Amino acid sequence: MFKLNMNRFILALLCFFTWSVQSTQAQEVVVYSARIEQLIKPMFDAFTKETGIKVKYTTDNEGALLAKLEAEGKNTPADMLVTSDAGNLWAAAQAELLKPIKSSVLAHNIPAHLRDPQNQWFGLSIRARTLVYNTKKVKPEELSSYENLADPKWKNRLCLRSSKKVYNQSLVAMMIAEHGEARTEEIVKGWVANLATDPLSDDTKALEYVAAGKCDVTLVNTYYFGRLMKKDPNLPLAIFWPNQDKNGVHVNVSGAGITRYSRNEQAAVKLLEFLSSEKAQNLFADVNMEYPVNPAIDADPFVESWGEFKQNPMNLVKAGELQTTAVKLMDRVGYR
Ligand code: FE
Repeated sequence: MFKLNMNRFILALLCFFTWSVQSTQAQEVVVYSARIEQLIKPMFDAFTKETGIKVKYTTDNEGALLAKLEAEGKNTPADMLVTSDAGNLWAAAQAELLKPIKSSVLAHNIPAHLRDPQNQWFGLSIRARTLVYNTKKVKPEELSSYENLADPKWKNRLCLRSSKKVYNQSLVAMMIAEHGEARTEEIVKGWVANLATDPLSDDTKALEYVAAGKCDVTLVNTYYFGRLMKKDPNLPLAIFWPNQDKNGVHVNVSGAGITRYSRNEQAAVKLLEFLSSEKAQNLFADVNMEYPVNPAIDADPFVESWGEFKQNPMNLVKAGELQTTAVKLMDRVGYR
């Protein structure tokens, strides 16, 4: 009798374990991330600690991840795509890889201009693309706007990153949205005429050129400035916030969307909401010296020390919609 009961007990125990293993398996979110491991793992760990939901992730560059999502189609294991730049997020939505998410939490935590009007992607951290100048060669009063860098007074004094990177494509796309194509073309043509050197491979190189006096001013995302200044605080570099009496600084985002064929949508939305919350916003932004999107949260003190600025309130969807137009425009004026 006792043996029979024991067998039943063991059977019940087995059933329970199988059930609990299955239910934990369901409680897992798979993320494809173009942000590197060190920029995502801390908040995924915090999320798992709070909810018990596991996060599995694969990191790669955005092109590879989009191609993977496209190839896998309905069979993709991915629930969420994390990538930088609205241009990339927009491209994912355009390729029908993401699905619209209605969430009052996301709508509350993320300002409207930093998320897709169709709710397919959401900005999670702000990257400001601003001017950095050589403090020995330029007085801040000489600077004013992105547009002003086209003025002949900057001849042979400007360095720019290559137009191949989405960052400058998004910037130019947003300028087209603001000024129209003809006026933007004049501005970008002016930039090219003022270049001190051929366009450079990345933002860090552009900053190093400015610091070395090979040019006087450049246009970069602030976290590259932060990284360089942390290494060498004595570099003769400073940030200038342009367009403050106009439309504001060009901002972009790192962000995420839920994949069209996500099988764990509920848990994935929970993760997305968590990433926009007070608990995760500093983790998301601070690791890369970016700004939280959630206006309730302050940036890291080092980042705050660069001063406050007005940001351009135009919706970032324009960076995607006008990307091709921007690329063609840059090509026309010889911006390589
Ligand atoms: Fe970057």
